[in-house]
Amino acid sequence: MAVDSTLLNTMRVAKETVVAIEYTLKDDQGNIIDASGERGPMEYLHGAQNIIPGLEQGVEGLVAGDTKNVLVPPQLGYGEYSEKLLQLVPLTAFGANTPQVGMRFHAETNLGMRVLTIKKIEGEEVTLDGNHELAGKTLHFDIKVVSVRAAELTELSHGHPHQSGGCCGGGGCGSGEASGGGCCSTEEGSEGGCCSTEEPAAQKQGGCGSGGCGCS
Ligand SMILES: [Zn+2]
Repeated sequence: MAVDSTLLNTMRVAKETVVAIEYTLKDDQGNIIDASGERGPMEYLHGAQNIIPGLEQGVEGLVAGDTKNVLVPPQLGYGEYSEKLLQLVPLTAFGANTPQVGMRFHAETNLGMRVLTIKKIEGEEVTLDGNHELAGKTLHFDIKVVSVRAAELTELSHGHPHQSGGCCGGGGCGSGEASGGGCCSTEEGSEGGCCSTEEPAAQKQGGCGSGGCGCS
């Protein structure tokens, strides 16, 4: 009996595997919201909540080379849009900065650290929106599984995949100019750091930013 060489590559996506996927994300109207494109495949640790639940469920059980359309409803994506996440702050809260509609920033809220968007400025009142920009949206992913491999022990304990050279290593966020004060430094991992520049929409907050990429 001949050994089927394809068997060597048939590891299925399951808990404790590191998966690389290429994807294009569209909204209900077919507009492209995000795509792995030139960034290259997005790598994540399956089962560790690195990516939104609906996408993770859609990838489960696939093997390298598989393509699939995955429809993710808001409740399995970025949640329903909630009016409760709107808050009013006085213009004076911005001090010397001039707020502008659409501006986004990180701020500590009673729900923890969130990205807030300036939704409206009326007179002396600024409306901040703590909803994710994709909240309330049904997401249409076209995905292709590029690779599936067993996770390393350190990856499991850190809860995220490591690229060659470690957490922030080769080709990852550590490379390039972003290094200084980037994700590998303990302070301000996510703001202005290397990981933040273009965080894939599909990625929850795994990656280098959170979870502390200051892996030891
Ligand atoms: Zn790590």
